[in-house]
Amino acid sequence: GYRKGGYHAARPGDRFAGGRFVAQRKIGWGNFSTVWLAYDTLHSRFVALKIQKSARDYAHAALHEIELLSAVAKGDPTNSKCVLRLLDHFKHAGPNGRHVCLVTEFLGDSLLRLIRYNRNKGIGLSRVKEICRSVLVGLDYLHSELGIIHTDLKPENVLLDSTINPAKDPVRSGFTPILDRPVGNQYGGTVISFSEKMLKMRARRAVAKISQRRVSIGGVGAQLEKERCLDGISLKCKIVDFGNACWADQQLAGEIQTRQYRAPEVIIGSGYSYSADMWSFACIAFELATGDLLFAPKNCQGCSEDEDHLALMMETLGKMPRKIATSGTRSKDYFDRHGDLKRIRRLKFWPLDRVLVERYNFTEPDAKGFSDFLRPMLDFTPENRPSAAQCLKHPWLN
Ligand code: ADP
Ligand code: MG
Repeated sequence: GYRKGGYHAARPGDRFAGGRFVAQRKIGWGNFSTVWLAYDTLHSRFVALKIQKSARDYAHAALHEIELLSAVAKGDPTNSKCVLRLLDHFKHAGPNGRHVCLVTEFLGDSLLRLIRYNRNKGIGLSRVKEICRSVLVGLDYLHSELGIIHTDLKPENVLLDSTINPAKDPVRSGFTPILDRPVGNQYGGTVISFSEKMLKMRARRAVAKISQRRVSIGGVGAQLEKERCLDGISLKCKIVDFGNACWADQQLAGEIQTRQYRAPEVIIGSGYSYSADMWSFACIAFELATGDLLFAPKNCQGCSEDEDHLALMMETLGKMPRKIATSGTRSKDYFDRHGDLKRIRRLKFWPLDRVLVERYNFTEPDAKGFSDFLRPMLDFTPENRPSAAQCLKHPWLN
């Protein structure tokens, strides 16, 4: 954590880049960084400030992220392609070393928070569709225009582009920036869900204002408190976190992706391409719709997490074609020469559309529509998976 080579311990009111940016509060963190809501005094707007850990490898990763996000910004002058916008970057010297810092547009909550707001019950298919459209627009842009594979798509790395964003509408959101260090430690660097706070604040203000100015802002906040969901809010979202992304023709790591969103070709070591992102995307869509992970592998008795993962995939999607199963550098660890798992012999086949009906109480037509959309992205043969552009044309979304 907060030691030499590690995170920079910022406090609200701290200034960055020669005083231009003022830290407001911590809004997130990852393995590599802490992320702060900051106020940009030059342009009078709120931004997100990602402060990377200082050790050389982290700095190197941040410079790589800057390179990719610069290409993203350059190819999308109107900022409409559903990928995080980089605004600036600089280095900040602190007690733990020199930290590369990225300044980006400030976005709302992650899909992970959205899933949790809804107490892991799914967010409803119309919202799932809305989010799927945005993510696919982003993926199509990265894949077919830029040649970038994200390699770490998961709910934490997709953020809502909230319409009540103080970065876009600081006056109406009623949010005043902190410009100096507060006395004492009352802000203490705790992480809060910003949109949630904002919604509650707005609900209170709305009530106050209705009597004064006779305007109704609508009960967005009240609804949130009641239902813990984001009804009435545009569900556009953006892809973030390019810390692991790569140019498709310059791949480095053999093992990519976060466990539950990892594609089978990555597990068996047979190379990967854009289609690995499509696999992760399908896992996210399932999770939004049901509130549960599509695949939640565990270490089981006598078998590894990888083997359990492959078994879970085959129970939902059918047997992996022998040619694919035996094609990877690690195939021999898991499969015999017939393409059967060596250590997990009895699989209980439970296909996706049945799971949706029997476990998640989907109606037959809803289950069919949704699994028709997802199933092709979960093809064991990566080349058979549809591209993001093809998915955007799927009838389920239209
Ligand atoms: P890491 O590479 O360390 O995982 P991320 O870029 O994923 O860093 O950021 C970590 C977390 O910070 C995200 O999951 C999200 O919750 C929050 N975050 C990142 N960027 C923004 C942003 N632009 N606006 C709002 N929150 C953000
Ligand atoms: Mg992240």
